[in-house]
Amino acid sequence: MLETSAILKASRAQVNHAFAQRLQKLLATCHAYLPSVDEDMIQRAFELSFWAHRNDRRASGDLYFTHPLAVAEIVAKLIRIDDISVAAALLHDVVEDTELSLSLLRDEFGDEMTMLIDGMTKIRGVYSNRALSQAENVRKLILSMAHDIRVMLVKFADRLHNMRTIASLPRAKQLRVATETQTLFAPLAHRFGLQMIKNELEDLSLRVLERDAYESILRDLKASRQERDAYIASFIGPLKKRLEEMGFAFDIYGRSKNVNSIFQKMNAQNKPLTEIYDLFAIRIVIKRTGRRGKEDCWRVYSIITDLYKPLPERFRDFISVPKSNGYQSLHTTVLGADGRRIEVQIRTQEMHEIAERGVAAHWKYKEGVQKADASMDQFLTWVHDLMENPQQEKATDFVKDFSLNLYTDEIYVFTPRGDLKTLPHRATPVDFAFQIHTDVGYQCIGAKVNGKMVPLSYRLRSGDQVEIITSKKKTPNPDWMKFVVTQKARSRIRYWINEERRTATRYGREIWEKKAARAKLKVSDALLGRYAAKFKYASPTQMFYEIASGLFDVNNLVRLIRTGKTQEPDTEQEETGTGSEQYDSFREHAQTSGQDTLVINGERIAGVAVDYAPCCNPIPGDPVFGYISKTGTLKIHRTVCRNAPNLLVNHGERIQPCDWSRQKDVRFIVGLRIVGEDRVGIVHDLTTVISRNLKTNIRSITVETEDGVFEGTIVLDVSDLSHLKRLIMRLKRIDAIHGVYRFEQ
Ligand code: MN
Repeated sequence: MLETSAILKASRAQVNHAFAQRLQKLLATCHAYLPSVDEDMIQRAFELSFWAHRNDRRASGDLYFTHPLAVAEIVAKLIRIDDISVAAALLHDVVEDTELSLSLLRDEFGDEMTMLIDGMTKIRGVYSNRALSQAENVRKLILSMAHDIRVMLVKFADRLHNMRTIASLPRAKQLRVATETQTLFAPLAHRFGLQMIKNELEDLSLRVLERDAYESILRDLKASRQERDAYIASFIGPLKKRLEEMGFAFDIYGRSKNVNSIFQKMNAQNKPLTEIYDLFAIRIVIKRTGRRGKEDCWRVYSIITDLYKPLPERFRDFISVPKSNGYQSLHTTVLGADGRRIEVQIRTQEMHEIAERGVAAHWKYKEGVQKADASMDQFLTWVHDLMENPQQEKATDFVKDFSLNLYTDEIYVFTPRGDLKTLPHRATPVDFAFQIHTDVGYQCIGAKVNGKMVPLSYRLRSGDQVEIITSKKKTPNPDWMKFVVTQKARSRIRYWINEERRTATRYGREIWEKKAARAKLKVSDALLGRYAAKFKYASPTQMFYEIASGLFDVNNLVRLIRTGKTQEPDTEQEETGTGSEQYDSFREHAQTSGQDTLVINGERIAGVAVDYAPCCNPIPGDPVFGYISKTGTLKIHRTVCRNAPNLLVNHGERIQPCDWSRQKDVRFIVGLRIVGEDRVGIVHDLTTVISRNLKTNIRSITVETEDGVFEGTIVLDVSDLSHLKRLIMRLKRIDAIHGVYRFEQ
C-alpha cells in the first residue's frame, strides 16, 4: 500500500539541487501571474510527480519528470489560470504511466484537482493512442472542455512542450504529431483566443512539415533584422513623442509576425519575402482601463492618422464588434516613409490580456470560488452548440466541419431588423439562414442582399443586410453542400439528405415487396443481399434506394430470381464510366515515370513500387511523405494533402519519410485553375506564355466563361516545384488574370 507521506519523504531526499531551484522558480512564476498560490499544494504535486516518474525517460534521454515540470511552467507563465491547474499539470501523466492511482491523488488533493487529472488522462489518446480514430479523439477533446475548460488549457501546454521537444521523435511520428498540431491544436488554440500559444504551435509544426521553407524564412528575417528594427524605430519615434506630450499612459513596440503567417502569405501571393508588405507591425497598448481606456484607443487612432496616411480599406474596429473569441482591438494600416505599409494595433491593457490569453484571461476568482464571467459563458455556449448535433452524424464528418469553422476570418452581417450576426468568411445566404433557425434553412428558396436578389451561393460580405425568402413547401437542395461553409448548415443539410435517403429506401422496399407478393416470390434478407451483390450493390438498402429513385428496374431483380440471369440477353448494359480521364492519366503517368525519382531516408529505392497519390499530385520539391498501401505500394502524398491528417494520425505505422533526389529529366503532371476577366485573346496569351516562353507542354485546356468571368483549367507537364512557381508567377502577370491556383484535387 502506497503512503503519500512516505513518498513525499523519499522524493524530497532524491530531488537534486537543480530541480529544487526549478521548483522555487516555478513558485515565483506562480506568484507573479496567479491570483493566489497554495505553495504547499504545488510542492507536494512536484514531489509526487518527481517520485512517480523517477525511473522513466523521454525519447531524448532526459528524465521524464522534465516534461510535466515544463508543462506546469507553461501553464503558470503563458496560460496563467490558477494554482490548481499548475499542480494538475505536474501530475498529468502519473495515472496513466506510473503506480500512483487516482484514488491516492484524491485523498491527497481533493476532488477538483483529481477531476482535472482524470480529464487529462482521458484525452491522452489524442497524442498516443493509434487505435482510436482522430474523429473520436476530437469528440473526446470537446467533451472534456465542456466539462471543465481547464483540462483543455492544460492540454495546450502539454502539446506545446511536446512540440518543442519533437526533434527527438522518429520522423514518421514527427509528421503525425505536427500535422495533428497544425490541423487541430493550433486552430483550437486560436478559437480559445490563446494567440501566443497558437503562434508557437504553428511555427513548430511548420518547422517539421516544411523544414526548408521555415529555415529559409528564418534566415531572411535574421538578415534583414537590423534594417527593419531601424525602420520601426524611426516610425515609432515621432508617434511616441506626440502621445507622451498628450499625456497618454501607454506601451508602444514593434512586433514580429510568426514564421507561419509569413509563409502562408508568401504562398497565397506567390511572392518572395522581400515583397510581402505587412512585415512591419506595431502595437500600442493603452494602460488606462474601462471606458476611458476605450476612448483613449480612438484618440490615439486619430493622432496616428494625423501623422501618417491610413489605407481606409484596411481599417477594422474590433472594439465595437469583438471577434467571437473575444478579441478586441483597432487595426489600421498606414503608409510610413518610402511608402512602406505599417500595420498598427491599438488596444487597452485588458484587451491585450484577452488577445494573448483568450479564454484563460476570463478565468476569475469570485468569493473564493473559481467562476467564469460572462464572456466565458459565451464561450461555453459555443462549446455546447458544437455538441448539439444530429445524432446520426458520422464522427469524421463532424470533425471535418468542425475544423472548417475553427480558423476562418469572420464577417458581420445584419438581419432585416438590424440584428448583428457573426459568420465565417465566405459564408452564404444558406449559412445565414441556418444560423437564424434550422427551419429557415430548410425552407429557404432565395435571398436578398442589400435589397437585391442574389444566388444562394453568393459569398456574403461584412456589412451586408441579408433577407431570406422561405417557402413552407420547399426542402433543402443537396447541391447546397457544395458551397455552405458553416458547420451548422453542413450538418443539418447532411442530416436531411440522410433522412430523405431512409424514406426513399423504405419506399423502394415497399415497391419490391408488392412486386414479390404479386409474383409469389419468397426471398429471405440474406438471399436479397446476395442478389443485390450480383447487381454490384453493396447492400439491399442501396438497391432499394435506386429502385425508389427510378435508377434500377425492380423487374431486373424478379428476372434474376426466376432465371438466374442479371439481364435480358440482347440488352447492352449501360456504360457506367470509369472516372475522369485526367485521373487515369495521372495514374498511368505515375506508374511509368514513378521509379527512380525518390529517395527514402537518403537511399534510392530499388524494387519498390512507387505511386504518386492522385489526390494531391506531388511534384519534385514539394514536401512529401510516403504511405505504404495495403498492396505494398509506396504512395507519395504532399504533406499539405487533404488526406494527410487522416493518414499521418490514424495510420502512423504505415508512414515512410521520403525526400526527392536531384533528378531533373522527369516530367510531372500538374493542374492549374486560372480565373480572370473574359477578354479577347486571353486563351492565346495563356498558351503563349506557357508553351513559348516557358517551354512547358500543355496536356489539356478547358475554358468556361460566364458573365464576363473567365475560368480555365490547364493540365501541364512540369519538372519540379520551382518550374511550377515560375510558371504561376508568369501567368499571374498576364493582363486581366486574377488568380492562378494549383489543384488540390
Ligand atoms: Mn504529457
